[in-house]
Amino acid sequence: MTAASSLAAELERALHYPLADALPPRGGAIAVAPGVKWLRMALPFTLDHINLWLLRDRIDGREGWTVVDTCIDHPQARADWEQVFAAELEGLPVLRVIVTHMHPDHVGLAHWLCERWDAPLWMSATDYQAARYACQVVNSFGGDRLADYFHSHGMTDAGDLEQIRNRKSYYSSLVPALPPSFARLMDCMSLTIGGQAWRCIAGYGHAPEHMALYCEALNVLISGDMVLPRISTNVSVYEMEPEADSLTLFLDSLERFLPLPDDVLVLPSHGKPFTGLHTRLRQLREHHRERLAEVMDAACAAPVCAYDVLPVLFKRPLDLHQTTFALGEAVAHLHCLWHDGQLRRTRDAQGIWRFAPV
Ligand SMILES: [Zn+2]
Repeated sequence: MTAASSLAAELERALHYPLADALPPRGGAIAVAPGVKWLRMALPFTLDHINLWLLRDRIDGREGWTVVDTCIDHPQARADWEQVFAAELEGLPVLRVIVTHMHPDHVGLAHWLCERWDAPLWMSATDYQAARYACQVVNSFGGDRLADYFHSHGMTDAGDLEQIRNRKSYYSSLVPALPPSFARLMDCMSLTIGGQAWRCIAGYGHAPEHMALYCEALNVLISGDMVLPRISTNVSVYEMEPEADSLTLFLDSLERFLPLPDDVLVLPSHGKPFTGLHTRLRQLREHHRERLAEVMDAACAAPVCAYDVLPVLFKRPLDLHQTTFALGEAVAHLHCLWHDGQLRRTRDAQGIWRFAPV
């Protein structure tokens, strides 16, 4: 076990897992609260699973289920859903599909679920539009603009840049389509699901406009990717919004969960359901505070570009795919210090952004 993973394990033990090590079987569910079922589907990535939720519902007099998040569009997920339809819906239909945000593991099968059940998609407008755009462009998360952007943050290996220039359709391979219409989720909006009020909590910095859902009566928070028990949420800056301060947005968004009770049952998109929300929020703030201090130390020693701080933030070797995500996170940390007035940036003769203390 590495130092980083033993620290992660130690932090994880500070939380409480009411279901212990129980995991839903493939194509099956575990009830986690009245009318709330937990599904877990495999992902072919380092992050090897996603949690999805079934909420017992009644809309316009019809009994059925609201689905929260969908998995990527691949044959295994469709097969898993078929088993869920047969075994877990109690003979009732899916009435509505809610998606927390635009990332492929969350929205990939929304088009299929909505069409199959003639059910509406509910999602924030920002993420719906971003997902529709991303699944239609030829080279989302690749192409000349992304390669130029990575170069401006210190990626100079010609072979790596060439691979990024040529990367095609990563997003649309996982999210081939979006439903042609949607219902808009907005911050603080209250949804009635199964006779209970669920409140939307918007979050920024991880996705354009992520929606978590909180039910006070059940004392349950569907946290999506905003609050995860073990891993820290990916917070990145990319070429479409190159000046963004995603990390400040993310840290500010975490504050919005503080009014919730500490014993709320948190249902995260990755990892196990847990209690100890306030402990976890504290851990996440502390984690980023430490990373920012390390980045600041590096910049004080000598001006740095984002590529230079990869080994500061990630104490393990990264392949090119991981480097592209890590570089986005490195820019987010530098930009947090830059927007805060602690660092200034200058562009050197090679066109690379270098950050130094003010
Ligand atoms: Zn996500």
